Amino acid sequence: MIVTRFAPSPNGPLHLGHAYSAVKAHDLARAAGGRFLLRIEDIDGARSRAELADEFRRDLEWLGLEWEEVPAQSTRLDSYEAAARDLMARGLLYRCTCTRAEIEALEPTIGPEGLIYPGTCKGKAFDPSRPSALRLNIEAALAETGPLEWEDERAGVVTADPRQFGDVVLVRKDAPASYHLAATLDDAADGVTLVTRGADLVFASHIHRLLQALLGLPVPRWHHHALLVEADGRKLAKSRRSGERGYGLAEMREAGEDGRIVAEKLRLDQIPHGISLSRYPPDGT
Ligand code: GLU
Ligand code: ZN
Repeated sequence: MIVTRFAPSPNGPLHLGHAYSAVKAHDLARAAGGRFLLRIEDIDGARSRAELADEFRRDLEWLGLEWEEVPAQSTRLDSYEAAARDLMARGLLYRCTCTRAEIEALEPTIGPEGLIYPGTCKGKAFDPSRPSALRLNIEAALAETGPLEWEDERAGVVTADPRQFGDVVLVRKDAPASYHLAATLDDAADGVTLVTRGADLVFASHIHRLLQALLGLPVPRWHHHALLVEADGRKLAKSRRSGERGYGLAEMREAGEDGRIVAEKLRLDQIPHGISLSRYPPDGT
């Protein structure tokens, strides 16, 4: 049974890129007689807005999709804490009190997803008067798991290379888990077998595969799809307010556009509103 999911964070309105992703995940499940899940990723309490989750449901309905909703992340904090405790007890996590400014001052290497943490706090006593995050000791983790692979439906079998991102944060200073820990645990708990999302999150799959091995979780397959890009070649993104500049689903819905037609066009890779599709994998379409 194929189980896919759409897992939006309620921190800004959805845009056409989200519609593309949701339609893709929905259709991959439906074509195989499987299940399509909606999971609201509201781990980021300070930035999450409950009314946006309602808006997301209206957006999916407008696109003509049917889904099963699973519990939101804010109801699953115990499972994140238990996993973090387990990894901590095995010596795989360490406390980091560094601020972003302190890390930047060390002029760290820039990896595929931003700064690579230089390991300042690794193996050191931490100052309990400062807020701390928990980071994964990647070397210690890989020593436990050995080499790993993961399978992308479109790119084939990939060697997991979590080292390139450094010691990632699994428990944030300001949230009970990071995206990596929460999403990996949730996908396993929800029985997701085909993690479907944009190619901008390929990097995360290297880390998630490692977490699955460490936590003894089932290993899904992945389907990373091409991204929608604006005329300047940059991807649609909440950080660029793409959902409020004419590419927003709520905007289109309120302007009276027919969401089912939008979804049909996306299925045919006919992307409306002057948007185009990036290539993924790079030698693919
Ligand atoms: N919540 C993430 C986002 O909105 C998506 C995570 C995922 O699909 O793994 O970007
Ligand atoms: Zn640190």
